[in-house]
Amino acid sequence: MLNKSNFIIIMYHHVRKKKDKFFPKLISLDFKKFTNQLDYLEKNYHIINIKDLTDFIHKKKKPKKKLCMLTFDDGYLNHYTTVYPELKKRNLQGFFFPPSKAIIKRKLMDSNKAHLLIASKVPITKLNKELETLYYKFKIDKIIKLEFSELIKKYKHPFGYDNAETILFKRITQHVVPEKLRKKIFDSMLKKFVKISEKNLAKNMYITKRQAKEMLTNGMIFGNHCHDHLWLEKENEKNQQYQINQGLKFLKSIGMKLNNWIMCYPYGSYNKSTIEILKNKHCFLGLTSVNRAYNYKVDSNFEIPRIDCNNVFEY
Ligand SMILES: [Zn+2]
Repeated sequence: MLNKSNFIIIMYHHVRKKKDKFFPKLISLDFKKFTNQLDYLEKNYHIINIKDLTDFIHKKKKPKKKLCMLTFDDGYLNHYTTVYPELKKRNLQGFFFPPSKAIIKRKLMDSNKAHLLIASKVPITKLNKELETLYYKFKIDKIIKLEFSELIKKYKHPFGYDNAETILFKRITQHVVPEKLRKKIFDSMLKKFVKISEKNLAKNMYITKRQAKEMLTNGMIFGNHCHDHLWLEKENEKNQQYQINQGLKFLKSIGMKLNNWIMCYPYGSYNKSTIEILKNKHCFLGLTSVNRAYNYKVDSNFEIPRIDCNNVFEY
C-alpha cells in the first residue's frame, strides 16, 4: 500500500560504505541504498532547506510540491565522511543532530556501547551470560527484586529486526539496569570483550567539532540532541534544562544561529516539561521518532513524526 504524503521527514543513523572496516556488523544503511533513496526522493519531493522549513512552519500553507526533510541523528563520523560529501555534491541540505557530550568529551553514548557489543565478534548468548554474572555481581537483583530468569521470561522475545537474545540484552541494559550501573556494566563488558579504549572507539564513531563547523560552513544545519543522550521523560525538569542548555551551548560553539533552532529528542523521548522548556528557549520544532508521515494540519510543532530510513520507498 502506498502511503502518499505531502511532507515526510526521514530519520537516518549510520550510513556506511561496504569498505568501512569499523565493526562491519554495526547496523547501518548501505551507501548505495542511500544514494538510491536520494535519487527517488529528489524525483518525487522537494528536499527542503532551513528557509523552506521556517517559512512552511510559520505559514502552514499547503505546499506546491511534496516536501521532504533529511535528518541524521547522533553525530556519527560517517555523516562527515559519507553523507555530507554526497549531499554537498547534490546541493542538498541535511539536518544533523549530534549529542554534545560524545562530540566534545569523546565519550561513547550508552546506546552505542550496546550496539558495539552486539556488533562485536562475541556471540550474543555469551554477552547475555556475562550480563547475568554482572547483574548479580552488582546486586541489581536486590534493587529490582527480580531474578535474572524472570527477566528472561519477560524480555526474551524477538521484536522488529532483532532476535530474542538481542532484545533481551537491549531491554535489560536499557530499561532494567539503573543508569549508574549501566555505565559500569558496559565498561566492564567492553574491556573484557572489545579491548579497544573508549577514546579510540569514540574517535572512530563520532564527528569532531571542527568537522561540524566545516559542515555548517558548507551549508549543513545542526540541531539540539542534548548532552548525554538520555530518555528525557525519565529526567526531572532541572536535568532536562541542563541537557537542553548543554546542547544549545554546543550549537553556539560551532556557529549555529539560535533564533530558529530545532530539537531532536534522544530516543524520541520527551514529556510536557520538555515542551515547556523548548517553548521558553525559542525552539521552533521538536522531532520525535514516531514512524509515520508528518500531518502538518494536525501534528504539534513539538511532536513531529519521522519516517525510518528503511521505509522510504513506502512513501
Ligand atoms: Zn539519538
